[in-house]
Amino acid sequence: MIAPQKKIARLAHGERSMFAVGVVVCLTLFGLGGGLFVSRDRANRSQAETEAAAVTAALDAARASFAEEARQMAERLPEPMALARRQTDGPVHVPGADAYIIDLAKDFSAATSENPQLSGALSAAAPLAADPVPSDAPLRGRLSEREAASPWASPRTAIAFPNGRAAFISLTPNVSAAGAGLAFLAVRPIDAALLASLARAADTQRLEIVPATAAPAEGATAPLAASPDGRAFLLAWRAQRPGEMIVESVAWLLISFALFFAAFTVAHARRVTEEAVVDEAETFEAAGQDPLTGLPNRSMFTRLLESELDRVRRTVNEHGAAVLYLDCDRFQEINDSCGRDAGDKLLAALGLRLGNLLRASGRLARFEGDEFAILQTDVVGPRDAEMLARKIIDAMAEPFDIDDRQIYVGLSVGIALCPQDADTADELMRRADVALYRAKNEGRNRYSFFEQKLGDQMRMRKVVEDDLRTAIEAGALLLQYQPIMDISGKRMVGVESLVRWPHPEHGLISPANFITLAEECDLILPLGDWVLRRALADMRLWPGLKVAVNVSAVQFRQKDFGDRIERLLQETGIEPERLELELTESVLLSDADAAEDAMINLRAMGIRLALDDFGTGYSSLIYLRRFAFDKIKIDKSFLESLESAGEGAIIVHSIVHLGRALGLTVTAEGVESADQHRFLQALGCHELQGYLFSKPVSAAEITRRLRLQESGAEQNRAVA
Ligand code: C2E
Ligand code: CA
Ligand code: CA
Repeated sequence: MIAPQKKIARLAHGERSMFAVGVVVCLTLFGLGGGLFVSRDRANRSQAETEAAAVTAALDAARASFAEEARQMAERLPEPMALARRQTDGPVHVPGADAYIIDLAKDFSAATSENPQLSGALSAAAPLAADPVPSDAPLRGRLSEREAASPWASPRTAIAFPNGRAAFISLTPNVSAAGAGLAFLAVRPIDAALLASLARAADTQRLEIVPATAAPAEGATAPLAASPDGRAFLLAWRAQRPGEMIVESVAWLLISFALFFAAFTVAHARRVTEEAVVDEAETFEAAGQDPLTGLPNRSMFTRLLESELDRVRRTVNEHGAAVLYLDCDRFQEINDSCGRDAGDKLLAALGLRLGNLLRASGRLARFEGDEFAILQTDVVGPRDAEMLARKIIDAMAEPFDIDDRQIYVGLSVGIALCPQDADTADELMRRADVALYRAKNEGRNRYSFFEQKLGDQMRMRKVVEDDLRTAIEAGALLLQYQPIMDISGKRMVGVESLVRWPHPEHGLISPANFITLAEECDLILPLGDWVLRRALADMRLWPGLKVAVNVSAVQFRQKDFGDRIERLLQETGIEPERLELELTESVLLSDADAAEDAMINLRAMGIRLALDDFGTGYSSLIYLRRFAFDKIKIDKSFLESLESAGEGAIIVHSIVHLGRALGLTVTAEGVESADQHRFLQALGCHELQGYLFSKPVSAAEITRRLRLQESGAEQNRAVA
């Protein structure tokens, strides 16, 4: 952990480098984007130009092919028809075609025809005929060299607007040997079909004829012609825009790159920051300093302690030293609820407050996490250390102001004295730690001195824990079963499984002596698992018999507890109705909602649930109403006091009646005498369990008794 202001400076450093790289990349992206738009426009424009050239070429080709068609038609004109013009006074319509036979000398100057198409065509063709026609032009295609060079060697064409609509016009002179000066005038409207074939030839979108003044802003155009009133017309269409495709594909590339870069920058900045933080922490630590509080760290503290102990050894007066170990109570909860940053600030503030308290009487150090240590000097006796410890705890009565929040912190203090408890640094620190453990265990926010007996207990505990772990792993535990009898006391209706630990030195150890330990050091899960498996395996030997298994609250709180049991039941093929789980109230205390859900789930599988040690807890009645138990087990302590005092009898009496009223099975535990049995029988209790009937026995013994019970029943039936 780093002092907050240092951390911020380092963060800013990381952000600065990220910012610089970000600016460079943004400029690059901006440039690329700009370039992209320029090249998009260029690509679009050049495509439009290409298409316009193709359209113009297609238009020219269509015009040429129309001229050729007209020429061939003119060539094939029957002679009499050509001559017909001579007999009439005006152009002659060629049947089956938009074509006329006209007299070049007369028809242009004659009064306009009533036929609007013809008059339009005539006025459009007039400029074509402006050049004189060679008078001796040969007939029908047989051209001399001179004539081939003449402008009249092929038809003259134009694009015009006879009739107001765009059309090709062609004029083919000399259509008759007899009639010099006769010409063939053909019209081909530029209609939708022609426009479509032009578009096909030019490979463009649909073409349209538009006035130049109304040319679309988007799209391409090619010039067509000017109308008689002087208005220019264009061919217009939507050109392809390859630029958009470029933009699209490149834009995606750019976007992906930008995203990738953003992710990279963030990751990089974070790494830079973290590295900076780690670097700084390492520098501090190398100097023997805790980076968060600026206090000495553990190794520096050890060195300080060693030199102080040296001094104590050399001096002749009675002055000794004390080591105080300090640990925040429930610091994890503060970290979780206020956030790590607030936690760090709190530790720094705590360091300051403790430092002010000490002044010249000692040295303060911070170890890892929420642990602090004090080396108290010039200690004459335990009272000196005790006074300091009290001052420290009192100083915690004031809250800390962190981020506009008031946070209260409790401290537990463990004290070891030199020379009374130990005279080496290592040993003193270890003993202060043991004393701290005791202070925490005795209820926190208090101080404790080291005591020899305490150390022994802790060592013992550690040995037991190691032994138990080994036993569980080796499957060296033992599961016994205590019969549960019907109310007559003659028939075994079920058994309760009870675990034992056969210890090589201490013999069979009772669960009362190791279950709590197992719960404290997380051994209860493997232990509980083992018990469940063992019990289910044994159940296969006893068809129809109910078996109760004790479940610890720690075990029950596991999210997958129900799934585990379901899987085990499936594996062993045991009917769920035969399995009974014995729970204590502690299961229901911590998270009642979660417990309720888990219980509903287990009951839905068909498993039965019993409330164990009934009457010893807090508000049993409320639990009975809320939670779906099938059975209550009256705690054996009430049976013990049955004879000695009237109170026990009253309690047992009311529990039995309460259970019966709620429709639950009531089982009495710890039945040891015939008197107790009679009393319970009279009350209407359902089942009995206790040494009067049987102690817990091995699985083999249960098998034997079941057989006896069955053969007895058969004999009874035979007698009857
Ligand atoms: P418990 O569930 O109340 O189990 C009944 C205890 O009463 C057992 O003690 C049993 O041997 C004892 N007992 C039975 N009849 C009599 C009697 O007539 N007189 C007297 N004085 N005692 C009797 P045990 O086997 O020592 O178990 C102690 C406790 O350990 C159990 O109390 C149970 O809470 C726990 N325990 C046992 N096995 C397991 C286990 O597999 N898992 C868990 N989580 N706890 C277990
Ligand atoms: Ca039990
Ligand atoms: Ca019990």
